[in-house]
Amino acid sequence: MWSASVFTLYPEMFPGPLGRSMAGTALEKGLWALEAKNIREHGLGRHRAVDDTPAGGGPGMVLRADVLAASLDAGLAPDDPRPRLLMSPRGTPLTQKMARAFAGGPGLVIVCGRFEGVDERVIEGRGLTEVSVGDYILSGGEIAALTLLDSCVRLLPGVMGKDESGSEESFEGGLLEYPHYTRPREWEGRAIPETLLSGDHARIARWRREQAEKLTRERRPDLARKADEA
Ligand code: SAH
Repeated sequence: MWSASVFTLYPEMFPGPLGRSMAGTALEKGLWALEAKNIREHGLGRHRAVDDTPAGGGPGMVLRADVLAASLDAGLAPDDPRPRLLMSPRGTPLTQKMARAFAGGPGLVIVCGRFEGVDERVIEGRGLTEVSVGDYILSGGEIAALTLLDSCVRLLPGVMGKDESGSEESFEGGLLEYPHYTRPREWEGRAIPETLLSGDHARIARWRREQAEKLTRERRPDLARKADEA
C-alpha cells in the first residue's frame, strides 16, 4: 500500500484536511496510509529541545541535526525504499509530473521544517531531497506536506471517482484547463457557449482545445512556450 511517513513538530495537523473528502475516504478504505511522527519525542533534556540558535548569528532558530536524525533513524527501517523529502522553499518546485512519479512509487517520507530551517548537515547526512510548493514562505512544512500528499493521493488507483477525471486537467497536457459550465442554461444574463450545447463532440473538443490554448497563452506564457516546443 502507498504509505506516507511525516516527521513534524505538529503531528496533530495530520491527516487534517486529508481526512476528509476524496483523500479521507481513500484513507478509510486503506487505499493509502499515513503516519505522523513527532520529532519532539527525540528532543533533548527536560524541555525536549529540538532547535538552537544559528551558527554565525542571525535571527530565529534552527532545527537540530542530531534531533531530526534520531527521529528519522528511530522511525524508519534502513532499507525503507521511499523517497525522503524535506519541504523547503529552496527545493525543486512541485509539478504535476513529480506528483505522478511519486504516486507511482511506494510512498513518501516527508520532513516538515520549522523556524528558520533545518541544519544543513542532516539534509546531507540523511539524503533528504528538498521540494518546494512555490515561491513564497510558509511558517512550516506541514501545509506544504499536505499539499504534496494531496497531489499524489488523488492519483492513486481507485481514489478518484471517475478514472478519466484527472487525465484532462490543467498541466496534464501542458496546458491550463478549458472553462466549465453547468445548468442553468442561462444565469444572470450569461449563456453557456452555444458550442457546448451543440451535441457535436468533435466541435466541442476543438472549442475546448482552443480555449485551453488561449487561456494558457494569456495567463501562463511560460507553459505555452513549453507546449509549443514539445
Ligand atoms: N528561512 C527559510 C524559510 C523557513 S520557513 C528560507 O528563507 O528559505 C520554515 C519551514 O517552512 C521551512 O523549513 C520549510 O519546511 C517550510 N516551508 C516554507 N515555505 C515553503 C515552501 N514554499 N515550500 C515548502 N516548504 C516550505
